Amino acid sequence: MATDVVCPFCGTLCDDLEVIVEDNKIKNVRHACVIGSSKFLAMNELKRPAKPMIRRNGSFEEVDMKEAIDECGKILSGSKRPLLYGWSSTGCEAQSVGIELTEELGGVIDSTTSVCHGPSILAIQDVGYPSATLGDVKNRADLIIYWGSNPMHAHPRHLSRYSVFPRGYFRERGQLDRELIVVDVRKTDTAKLANKFVQVRCGEDYELLSALRFVVNDGGELEADEVAGVSREDILDLADRLKNCQYGVLFFGMGLTQSNGTHRNIDAGISLVRDLNHHTKFSIMAMRGHYNVTGIGEVMTWQTGFPFAVDFSRGYPRYNPGETTANDILRREEADAALIIASDPVAHFQKTAVENLAKIPIITIGPDMTPTAMLSDVFIPSSISGIEDASTAYRMDTVPLKLHRVLEPPEGIYPDVEILQMILEDVREKKGGVKKEGEKKVEEGR
Ligand code: SF4
Repeated sequence: MATDVVCPFCGTLCDDLEVIVEDNKIKNVRHACVIGSSKFLAMNELKRPAKPMIRRNGSFEEVDMKEAIDECGKILSGSKRPLLYGWSSTGCEAQSVGIELTEELGGVIDSTTSVCHGPSILAIQDVGYPSATLGDVKNRADLIIYWGSNPMHAHPRHLSRYSVFPRGYFRERGQLDRELIVVDVRKTDTAKLANKFVQVRCGEDYELLSALRFVVNDGGELEADEVAGVSREDILDLADRLKNCQYGVLFFGMGLTQSNGTHRNIDAGISLVRDLNHHTKFSIMAMRGHYNVTGIGEVMTWQTGFPFAVDFSRGYPRYNPGETTANDILRREEADAALIIASDPVAHFQKTAVENLAKIPIITIGPDMTPTAMLSDVFIPSSISGIEDASTAYRMDTVPLKLHRVLEPPEGIYPDVEILQMILEDVREKKGGVKKEGEKKVEEGR
């Protein structure tokens, strides 16, 4: 039995799982939520292509790894503006090689951040990020707010491990020592557990945050009867609760980043937290979705100075969200090749972006035949990071955790970090002749 296994599904990165393995099959998973358990148990049913595939005459043909890498090298080294996209569901080691590869190609690298918490990053760059670790939250917080976030569905153990239910050093009675407030456009399953639910009118979060800031800063002389569908009494009551807690934490999700106002909503949320720190102790944290979407932001920032949407076409890293973000590059038909890893843009991008993606050569690296993989010119199946490959991931509070390898991947299936390394070496060789260490690995077997 493997213990203290980290769940590679959501940004909560629960690190207390027990996984029982017999004959390289997962028999049971303890402590995970239903989503986390399913990810591990689904390994027993996973129908993954056994070999890389190249599209020829309209259909996929199985090839060996050497041929697939050579084809990837041809596509990428022959491209003028390749887009390397995804990165949120793989380890930091693969992300690091991906950035190196993008720099070598003079391409653009972007992560799923640009379609989820990109606005949060922009706001954080504008006004800062008074945040904390989830350990702080568990031990100290007595007021928890979820705004535009429904962790009962998206991060099912967030409440039980860190925010509402656990007993903490200064919160010995767990839930009895804490208050839960939910602000959302509808009564979600998280809202049903709350001590107070505030229903904000769809797209008017900025107005409500601004009204709260006004009351918190100016002492309550709010003239309007209601703001954003919330009555004056409720706003005054909410402001009172926020100011009078001992330690509050505002968790926000995509309900806030993707509604009207986008990054200005987060700017207002962070500013509210800053204002509240004149009265009490308060922190804010983004509810990151993919298990290592925080990691790609960290790794990209170390290596390039920017957290997502980085363009190397001028020979140095440049960052201009709205211009260098994946959807925008595809919409403008700028990319002439794409490498997609650990994500599925065909299932999630705007229609025009997907139509334009379909016009260019696509390389997909990943464990599943996703819609993006089915559209690809080269598909290389990889092992699953955090189950078949040990790597590193960052929890939503930017605490790095070591992911475990609990299963042996099938013969001939490589971790994506090794596949990327082989592609990088092939690209370098095609561009000027560096010895291919990765190919040697394939020939020698792993
Ligand atoms: Fe996995 Fe997230 Fe569930 Fe924790 S809450 S077990 S990280 S899916």
